[in-house]
Amino acid sequence: GRGIAVFTSGGDSQGMNAAVRAVVRFGIYLGAKVYFIKEGYQGMVDGGENIVEATWSSVSGNLHKGGTIIGSARCKDFRVREGRLKAARNLINRGITNLVVIGGDGSLTGANLFRHEWSSLVDELAEKGVVTAEAKSKYSNLYIVGMVGSIDNDFCGTDMTIGTDSALHRIIESIDAIAATAYSHQRTFIMEVMGRHCGFLALAASLASEADYVFIPEWLPEADWPSRMCKKLSSEREAGQRINIIIVSEGAVDRDGNTITSEMVKDVVVKNLHQDARITVLGHVQRGGGPSAFDRVLACRMGAEAVLALMEAEAETEPCVVSLDGNQVIRLPLMECVKRTQAVSKAMSEQNWDVAVQLRGRSFAR
Ligand code: ATP
Repeated sequence: GRGIAVFTSGGDSQGMNAAVRAVVRFGIYLGAKVYFIKEGYQGMVDGGENIVEATWSSVSGNLHKGGTIIGSARCKDFRVREGRLKAARNLINRGITNLVVIGGDGSLTGANLFRHEWSSLVDELAEKGVVTAEAKSKYSNLYIVGMVGSIDNDFCGTDMTIGTDSALHRIIESIDAIAATAYSHQRTFIMEVMGRHCGFLALAASLASEADYVFIPEWLPEADWPSRMCKKLSSEREAGQRINIIIVSEGAVDRDGNTITSEMVKDVVVKNLHQDARITVLGHVQRGGGPSAFDRVLACRMGAEAVLALMEAEAETEPCVVSLDGNQVIRLPLMECVKRTQAVSKAMSEQNWDVAVQLRGRSFAR
């Protein structure tokens, strides 16, 4: 059968284990040999014990765990040709010509580059006598499928990335917990959530938690946001509400392009309203804990689709990324999605909101 390797790369997210499990189980079910590559690209470059054949039972009991059991890493070696040559050798030695990469846009970019360089890497290995003429013809193509693991939901072409829903659950749990203590003391809480170029977590959390105010990178608050915010907060208090919750996305900026920090928001509240205000930065808690039911199911569906895509791949098939369109799991051209994602980040950092929102639009998938 075909040799398929699966690995996780870049930042971790909940549901990655479920995705790996689905790839392993569905691959084996369809008669493929499936391998884990541990520690992302670093394991691919280093080879040895980092690349191991998976068995049906080797993925048992991990579905509910957060993070990624097979490890993830940032890898400098893979950014240079020499490192990728080593990686190619390690894959060919094990008969692997199919990769499932679970990561962010950087990891997918690396995979795409690897695929386009692949035949020249194989040629070089043949010249050096590392691979035989027979192996050379057998391993002339590398097939790539990507899945996006990210809590930020910041990838173009998919409605949800693996991990987003779990992170949202974690945020909501935290806000609920904080709201109880805030209620007791009539406090105002400023909750800072992740999302450098994407306010999805902050926005969805604010809808799900009755927050009074939210700052996200996609929305530039009016120049007089401090007084508007104070008016809103005090009107809630006057109406009998004992607490205020403000959610700040880490990527929120004002009209001058300056970051709106939790401290700034707190100072405004304390100075103008004399409320007892506290900041909670959720940080890596958002990435922790087990995956939600949604993420488990999403990862299972995406993992199975990734294997199918590899099974159906032909010589000229370009790398694809498995994504969610509405409730449908589909395949989209990997590099087009990556390029759009990077263009959105660029537009966001240049405060080109219209361009960013237009590029991110889900209509792209249709
Ligand atoms: P996150 O969204 O969590 O940052 P990511 O996949 O974007 O995830 P990166 O650190 O950008 O994370 O990339 C992970 C790894 O992918 C890098 O450490 C590197 O090994 C590889 N990689 C990224 N970009 C390239 C590239 N242009 N060429 C080769 N390899 C790359």
